[in-house]
Amino acid sequence: MEQDRKNWQINTQLNHPKKVEILDGNRPLIQPIYLSAKFTLSEDHSYMDQFLYSRLSNPTTRQLEMSLAEIQKKEDCIVMSSGMAALSGTFLGLLKAGDHIITFREIYKPARTFIKDVLTRYQIEHTILALKDLSMLESAIRDGKTKLIHFESLTNPNLEIADVEYIIKVARRHGVLVSMDGTFAGLHQHTQFDVDLMIHSLTKFGNGHGDVIAGSIAGKKSLIQELRQMGVYLGATIDAHTSYLIERGLKTYMLRFERQTSSAQKVAEFLQTHKKVKITRYPGLSQHPGHELAKKQMKDMGAVVSFEIDPSICKDAAEFCHKLSLIQFSVSLGSTESIICPTELFFAADLGSSDKSEMGINPYTVRLSVGLEDPEDIIKDLRSLLG
Ligand SMILES: *Cc1c(COP(=O)(O)O)cnc(C)c1O
Repeated sequence: MEQDRKNWQINTQLNHPKKVEILDGNRPLIQPIYLSAKFTLSEDHSYMDQFLYSRLSNPTTRQLEMSLAEIQKKEDCIVMSSGMAALSGTFLGLLKAGDHIITFREIYKPARTFIKDVLTRYQIEHTILALKDLSMLESAIRDGKTKLIHFESLTNPNLEIADVEYIIKVARRHGVLVSMDGTFAGLHQHTQFDVDLMIHSLTKFGNGHGDVIAGSIAGKKSLIQELRQMGVYLGATIDAHTSYLIERGLKTYMLRFERQTSSAQKVAEFLQTHKKVKITRYPGLSQHPGHELAKKQMKDMGAVVSFEIDPSICKDAAEFCHKLSLIQFSVSLGSTESIICPTELFFAADLGSSDKSEMGINPYTVRLSVGLEDPEDIIKDLRSLLG
């Protein structure tokens, strides 16, 4: 082809540009972004082993999957276009009509409503337990029908702690798979457990800078292969540029997580002693009902603190969030900037009043994701309203 160039006209030249030669060993230190939707095929290798089309696989995305599998101590990982795609892809990839899934009311709201509203349309049944009734897990299993137990340890929004070892032990006894959404606890935690599928919203701590949406599933090669096929069907693909940004964000992941955790601990300690704060929920506080279990399962208690303000402060949680000045009223978490939002408004619309009150969600509860600002400035902002 190259020898034909001199005979080509301009449109042909422009559409088949010369390739920059890179000598063996003269590799870029940072992996390039492969923005190609398709790849030319070599006759020297099996087509199965080659990159073909970026909906199926892409070198930049593969790089990210390899990094994520390694830090989570899993055989393989697939990256998808959002945390929600990773969750719905897992459920649709593993379950079929007639199957049964067990989950808990203390999970991310769209995951809960997907199970309740969408899976039911495909005759996939569910049981939703309360985390405090974990002892009912075994009796909820329908032998031969229950295929998956899905949960969060360090739950959204009120930071309850699930006993991971116990859930796995029960699941194994009945040959049921376990998927865990580890978004709140971060990518580096709970890796000591034999969870079949570890799911994360990379939108949060993984990327860490609040500028992309993505998700991942890590686990055994054979399971990931099945889910990869579902991801390809759903077209829940991430683009190479997004993969690159997450890979770049991961380089400072541990620094960010540890710093945000230590700041969250300080903020939680401030809130806990404040008389205008009714309840502070943070697993790093010794008063937290899951504190001992959290210490057993996790090294870092995370960057999210939930609390309930005294009604004398503000009309409701939304007004409180709007009135803060450094801390921004927004959703999401795990970003560099501190973010706060009312929990009832955003995370509980599908729950009944008794579930909400048992879970400690009401018009005065908020969820704060502590960012990388100096903790003294975050506390000063809270103090400006709390007094
Ligand atoms: C945000 C979040 C998700 C969904 O992730 P997206 O990337 O927004 O789709 C899932 N689970 C938990 C616990 C989350 O916080």
